[in-house]
Amino acid sequence: MAASDPDCLFCKIVAGEIPATIVAEDDRTIAFMDINPATRGHALVIPRAHARDVHEIDSEDLKAVAASAQQLAARQRARLGADGVNLINSNGPAAWQTVFHFHMHVIPRYEGDPLKLPWVPSQGDMQDIAATGAELAR
Ligand code: 5GP
Ligand code: ZN
Repeated sequence: MAASDPDCLFCKIVAGEIPATIVAEDDRTIAFMDINPATRGHALVIPRAHARDVHEIDSEDLKAVAASAQQLAARQRARLGADGVNLINSNGPAAWQTVFHFHMHVIPRYEGDPLKLPWVPSQGDMQDIAATGAELAR
């Protein structure tokens, strides 16, 4: 059983204690839709094992997160018509991290989209997120 922090939001998603639109999973990682999407299809990849940031994450978990993010980026291109992708990982409040369980943002980009980084999160349309998640799911 992977290490878990009872106070961690993303550990609760891993445990199925709070709902998420999961689009991919493997032994070490899960990927799910961000509830405040920067663009259509914005997803997060996390290790199942709790680790606060890049300093704490097991290196095999980091590799698994990278591999999962790569697969998801390919699906964003193939299924959502993404023209580009930003992989973003923030570590520490000074670097804009707000949820302290390591995560990689996989943000599809569309030619001419209005996104400016860093983005200001705002609540997405849950039906739209679920529908996009279904398009992305393995
Ligand atoms: P950070 O700012 O730490 O790099 O990113 C945290 C991300 O987690 C944000 O993009 C935020 O929208 C997302 N997030 C926060 N709470 C939840 C949640 O309960 N469910 C999901 N799916 N995403 C969340
Ligand atoms: Zn956690």
